[in-house]
Amino acid sequence: MTKRPWGYQPTSDRPDPDWKVQPQTDAVRAGLARSGFGETSEALYLSSGFTYTSAQEAADAFTDETDHFVYSRFANPTIAMFEKRLAAIEGAELCLATGSGMSAMFASLACLVSAGDRVVASAAMFSSCHVVLTEILPKWGVEVDLVAGNKKDVWSAALSRPTKAVFIETPSNPLLEIVDIQMVSDLAHKVGAKVIVDNAVASPVLQQPLKHGADIVMYSATKHIDGQGRVLAGAILGDFNYFQESLLPFIRHTGPALSAFNAWVLVKSLETMTLRVNEMNASTQKIAEFLESHSSIELVRYPGLKSHPDFATAQKQMSGGGSIIGLNVKGGKAKAFELLGNLRIMDISNNLGDSKSLATHPASTTHRRLAPDVQAAMGITDSTVRISVGLEHVDDLIKDLGQALKR
Ligand SMILES: *Cc1c(COP(=O)(O)O)cnc(C)c1O
Repeated sequence: MTKRPWGYQPTSDRPDPDWKVQPQTDAVRAGLARSGFGETSEALYLSSGFTYTSAQEAADAFTDETDHFVYSRFANPTIAMFEKRLAAIEGAELCLATGSGMSAMFASLACLVSAGDRVVASAAMFSSCHVVLTEILPKWGVEVDLVAGNKKDVWSAALSRPTKAVFIETPSNPLLEIVDIQMVSDLAHKVGAKVIVDNAVASPVLQQPLKHGADIVMYSATKHIDGQGRVLAGAILGDFNYFQESLLPFIRHTGPALSAFNAWVLVKSLETMTLRVNEMNASTQKIAEFLESHSSIELVRYPGLKSHPDFATAQKQMSGGGSIIGLNVKGGKAKAFELLGNLRIMDISNNLGDSKSLATHPASTTHRRLAPDVQAAMGITDSTVRISVGLEHVDDLIKDLGQALKR
């Protein structure tokens, strides 16, 4: 690359490229590209376009012969720092940031399929992902089959026919169903299907699907990656071939690009993500145990509890149960609403993975768009409440839930 006036440095050589550092170190250091000013913190390049010192330099940039930035729909220095950092944490060859989790979900799958192709997905998932799979892709001639996520024989049968892609959300939102990533990946690869995992609920700290055989990971970075309720964002991670052959040709022209400002917020969020998620995970385990022993609660779903039907699979592929709890209160919708209304610290909100603890009633909010039988198949009832545990002191959160359940 030609030297820029301020001596733009492509990527920092700290940590030493030959050192194998922990993800927590990558979360602070990877991808850092300092300008010639030597700023400590990552710079915000809020620029849609870039200039060239000659027509030839522009021509070379457009033929991809140099890594000169061309246009922020394709690449931008601040967005690139976020992408390289997340790729290093995840252990992926490449990462592409998008403007929302849904644009990441849609692009990760749409770039692979054509009319006549078949997709198999686990049935329990975030409602907008469900709409993409059951309404939008079928309209374009893609066949989609949804299967019960935790049954091996069901997956074997579903993956005995030619399949282009498999989409799994594990743990699922809101009732934390667990899909065995390695088991599904092994079956999928036998029929040549690529496996995409929506890892938003677990976060990169607690689960790295590529290590369990998945080909592609996608995130709503709005959740634990930002983790402070500020920006919408998404990310897709995978290998060089997937990017070159499928993803980049699709997104360059359809344009789900992340804003450089939001990428700058996120690159700083990654620095604290490990600490935040580990603290939230430890608090959530205690809260799940408290709720499980409470007489007003009918059912607690949390992957860190032995009572979870897929506890063993969760132990195998996650390093913690996460920050989300699904529960059914005794007494139906009225009691669920009463619990939400009684909370004095936790907010009623449909977001998750935030530093503020949030509680919601999925049947009337996040999953309202789904038909009652689809909700029922995911285990969502009128008495289901989803709690996203934040960074407040765990004793205060247990006290809040205790008084809200008692009143
Ligand atoms: C929130 C969420 C999404 C969608 O992400 P947005 O950033 O809101 O577009 C997708 N999948 C899961 C599991 C989510 O929790």
